[in-house]
Amino acid sequence: MNLNFMAMALLCALTLSAPSTAQSLREREIAQCLPGEISTWGDGHDRPASSSPLIFQYDHTGSPAWFSQAVVLEAVQNAAQAWSQCGVPSQVLTPASDQAQRPGAILVQWSQENSGGNFAQADLGKGLLAMNPAMFELLNERNPKHDAGLTLQMVISHEMGHHFGLMAHSRRCVDVTSYYDNGKGERCHTRDGRAPAAGVEYRALLPTACDIARCMQANNVPERNRENRLSHLLKSNKTKPPDH
Ligand SMILES: [Zn+2]
Repeated sequence: MNLNFMAMALLCALTLSAPSTAQSLREREIAQCLPGEISTWGDGHDRPASSSPLIFQYDHTGSPAWFSQAVVLEAVQNAAQAWSQCGVPSQVLTPASDQAQRPGAILVQWSQENSGGNFAQADLGKGLLAMNPAMFELLNERNPKHDAGLTLQMVISHEMGHHFGLMAHSRRCVDVTSYYDNGKGERCHTRDGRAPAAGVEYRALLPTACDIARCMQANNVPERNRENRLSHLLKSNKTKPPDH
């Protein structure tokens, strides 16, 4: 499952500096999932995560030179923690603490081959989350002022969502599991009905309230536990990009 390439190609000219009114709407959409707001492109069937807890193991080999191991590991941990708010616990192993690949762990790696020419790709069958060093090099080359750490966080969060069981892509633009258009003239949705401005990344860096709500449904979290978790999410969800 890969991020739509057309949408991702936009990243080459992106900033996160949306106009202030659009940004506040975006913030509200990140923090709150209104009734009936969950919408997907219908391109997959959500299902429970392959295991609980989900264990991710990060291998820094082959990373672009400007990403330190600590930075990537933090992005993996941020995404795993955020997704676990849906009721599926997760653990991120550092290579230092566990050199050998843990059986059943999802390997988070840098591999052009396994990322299928996209920024990243999740392979649920093989237990992989592969990021493409060549695409990050291209992004850096085309737009050296863009903070590649933001793209890294979004890409990891998106692909990790597939491992948490979200197989369909969201049609809600702000969701980290979204793509913006289907190449046939159909667009993703925003709450005010306006399309995200061209050249501005509207998608969240971490799972939104609707991403988490969908993850709860996929993982059969009892209805009575959902509201509690979502209201907690509302208070704790990070809406600001990480420092790097
Ligand atoms: Zn995807």
